[in-house]
Amino acid sequence: MQALTNRAKAVERRKMTFLERIYLWNIIKGMWITFKHMFTKNPTIQYPEKKREFSPVFRGLHVLNRDEEGRERCTACGLCAVACPAEAITMEAAERLPGEENLYREEKYAAKYEINMLRCIFCGLCEEACPKDAIYLSETFAPSNFNRKGFIYGKDNLLIPNPVTAAGDLAKAKGLN
Ligand code: SF4
Ligand code: SF4
Repeated sequence: MQALTNRAKAVERRKMTFLERIYLWNIIKGMWITFKHMFTKNPTIQYPEKKREFSPVFRGLHVLNRDEEGRERCTACGLCAVACPAEAITMEAAERLPGEENLYREEKYAAKYEINMLRCIFCGLCEEACPKDAIYLSETFAPSNFNRKGFIYGKDNLLIPNPVTAAGDLAKAKGLN
């Protein structure tokens, strides 16, 4: 039969030596490798008791920002959604009503704002595109979930706690207490 390549090798069927037959040398070699690892630094981190430090450029879960008076910064301009290569962001705009000036910074705001974390690739382009400093990627990640709907993050998940009415929650969210 004609060979397709010249890489074919005849299998050697020589008789095993006594040392090869008792596998002792190979067992010793294997045990030596295991033994050496007892003195090397353990690369495993005992999560969740210990947490790995993130890189300074880590991009994690999104946060919708408020200004220093606790008003939502997002104006539902849609630039983040346009910039998003994964089409993970959707929103619905609404007009601010008289008396809501303490809730929303601009006349228009996002009545609904959703990010699909299963689509998101955490590229940070939404943060770059935002002219209002309204969205940024934090140093946490989306926790696991048993159903897909749990990965659609709405305003209730994304908005930071109000620094005026919920200063304690904000400090907690930032890991300050
Ligand atoms: S981080 Fe990237 S992929 Fe994720 S929502 Fe923002 S722009 Fe889209
Ligand atoms: S997060 Fe920023 S870019 Fe996105 S809709 Fe709001 S204001 Fe516009």
